[in-house]
Amino acid sequence: MTSISVTLTGNPQDKPSTVKEMGFGKLFTDHMFMMNYRTGRGWYDPRIVPFGDLSLSPASLCLHYGQTVFEGLKAYCGRDGQVRLFRPDENFNRLNRSNQRLCIPRIDPQFCLEALKQLVTLEKDWVPRQEGASLYIRPFVIATDPKLGVKSGDEYLFIIILSPSGAYYESGLEPVKIYVESNYVRAVRGGMGEAKTGGNYAASLAAQDEAHEQGYSQVMWLDGVEQKYIEEIGAMNAFFLLDGQVVTPGLTGSILAGITRKSVISLLERWGIPVAERRVEAQELVLAYERGLLQEAFCTGTAAVISPIGELKWREHVMTMNGGETGPVARRLYDALTGIQYGTLPDEMGWTVNVCHI
Ligand SMILES: *Cc1c(COP(=O)(O)O)cnc(C)c1O
Repeated sequence: MTSISVTLTGNPQDKPSTVKEMGFGKLFTDHMFMMNYRTGRGWYDPRIVPFGDLSLSPASLCLHYGQTVFEGLKAYCGRDGQVRLFRPDENFNRLNRSNQRLCIPRIDPQFCLEALKQLVTLEKDWVPRQEGASLYIRPFVIATDPKLGVKSGDEYLFIIILSPSGAYYESGLEPVKIYVESNYVRAVRGGMGEAKTGGNYAASLAAQDEAHEQGYSQVMWLDGVEQKYIEEIGAMNAFFLLDGQVVTPGLTGSILAGITRKSVISLLERWGIPVAERRVEAQELVLAYERGLLQEAFCTGTAAVISPIGELKWREHVMTMNGGETGPVARRLYDALTGIQYGTLPDEMGWTVNVCHI
């Protein structure tokens, strides 16, 4: 692929100085990466340009039929001034798996990583230095053909935007309240559950709104066929500590393969803590809870890293985990992962990629 052209902005913005100003996903840096695709030509015109609105036909395919995929990862600035990415190759490989499911052409993951490093290096002053804050990275692809016929597109845009974001937890890990959703489902086997695509999020909104109305922070999704087996929690993967063994739902086709999930499994194996990927029935949790064997529950994802569950409700059963406090396994995983991401712990697995120094 040709080299990346760079057009610098004429009016750089003031950067947020406090994590409060940052929040999540509402401020964007001065530049973005873009490239186009056309059938017969392939990906072309990779460029870094000033962040700004897109000009699209109102008939663009993505706006009507949801042919779009995305990724989410972060750049972290350590106390040593080193800016690191966490397993970005996994994100770009997953982007290609999502692309495949949605008939979007493959993008060279190596080129994506080079483009991302170049963009983050240009925007390095936007990488927050505050403890726990980071630069959130959102790569995405949209089909832009200006045609209403239902078919996979011939024209695409691949874009990477960057957003400084504050610490997910302002005052340490905070356990959340979750209920098991028994009306809506998020995804079914053979559907798009394995792909990171907007449609799955659209499918989850009604349940999330209802959960919020009832004072819960998220829902736990059951499988779409029997509505028996646990799949995910909100847009995170689910883990349980059952009688000394960590279990997480196996990747059966409707679950998003989280990179945090994969990393958690590797850490547990390394620590000699038994971990199993298998089907987990909601009923099994209740039985374990009644016998005092449901010791911890937590979810995993890039945004929060680890989100401990303090209370879990399924039908008439209200289960309180670890007295509503963060459990020791969730805590240890959180400390290990964030330690690697911010460079305060040795990266023995080779998970981080250095980008630049500030
Ligand atoms: C992104 C995502 C996750 C978490 O994946 P990570 O790679 O750990 O951030 C889990 N479930 C869904 C539905 C997701 O979209």
